[in-house]
Amino acid sequence: MKRAIFPGSFDPITLGHYDIIKRGIPLFDEIIVAIGENSKKTYMFSVEQRKRFIEEAFKDDVQVRVMTYKGLTVDFCKDVDADFILRGLRNPADFEFEKAIAHTNRDLAPIETVFLLTSASTSYISSSIVREVIQNNGDYTKLVPASVRI
Ligand code: ADP
Repeated sequence: MKRAIFPGSFDPITLGHYDIIKRGIPLFDEIIVAIGENSKKTYMFSVEQRKRFIEEAFKDDVQVRVMTYKGLTVDFCKDVDADFILRGLRNPADFEFEKAIAHTNRDLAPIETVFLLTSASTSYISSSIVREVIQNNGDYTKLVPASVRI
């Protein structure tokens, strides 16, 4: 079975993440959206809220599951028997960052990272911009799936 994980913070999930996951569905038998829990980070949304937003966005997609994890992404891959990591690329900064992580992960485990280029319509969206809009009472609804409501 071709199983991929799509790791991230998803604080909250955006239309950029949604696009990458949707486009990943035909490439894999199963995608596990993996919410990383980093005790050093502070989040706007609790892990339960972040999980619920994603589960609701993909309630009609049986190939998509949502899990949380702590520790190394490659260890989580081993735990769930996933051979692939799915990531999105928006810009050169993402590329440089992702390249170092993908090379490190390859040193740690025989896991292939598969990159999908962002769609033109969602390339500018990031969770940090969404949080900024929310904090300043802007209309965030155009940037996130309908399941993300405060
Ligand atoms: P992290 O906490 O690791 O920064 P994110 O939740 O920001 O995780 O993102 C998870 C993945 O989604 C990353 O591969 C990131 O590049 C990708 N991603 C985020 N926003 C977009 C977007 N607008 N288009 C394509 N990929 C995106």
